[in-house]
Amino acid sequence: MGRLFLVELEGRCYRCRFCDTPLALADDVISRTFNCRQGRAYLFSNVVNVTVGMKEERVMLSGTHTVEDVFCCRCGQILGWTYVASHDKSQKYKEGKFVLERWRIAEEVTEELSLNGGHHASSDPDNS
Ligand SMILES: [Zn+2]
Repeated sequence: MGRLFLVELEGRCYRCRFCDTPLALADDVISRTFNCRQGRAYLFSNVVNVTVGMKEERVMLSGTHTVEDVFCCRCGQILGWTYVASHDKSQKYKEGKFVLERWRIAEEVTEELSLNGGHHASSDPDNS
């Protein structure tokens, strides 16, 4: 423990609004029209650099789910939650997915960083 090993993400990603830690790829967004009690949230298939809290049963708009809260691994703010299990068959697709509240994350729009063509040295085979 002690040192944080943060996963870097390649491409457009969402970051923690408070500490700028990369959390999820824009490509991993399943739904941007997700609503929770605090407002708009995004549903992700995968997130990184988070820690999860205790499992608990929670009654939500879409029924009762077993969820775990999700926290930023660097600054510790709560970001949302993850679905561990759903009691309703129609909600099963959410299992293993992550909900991040929109206002807690920041969308980063990175420009395509074009490698200066021709400048990256192609390593010569070295058989010595
Ligand atoms: Zn953070």
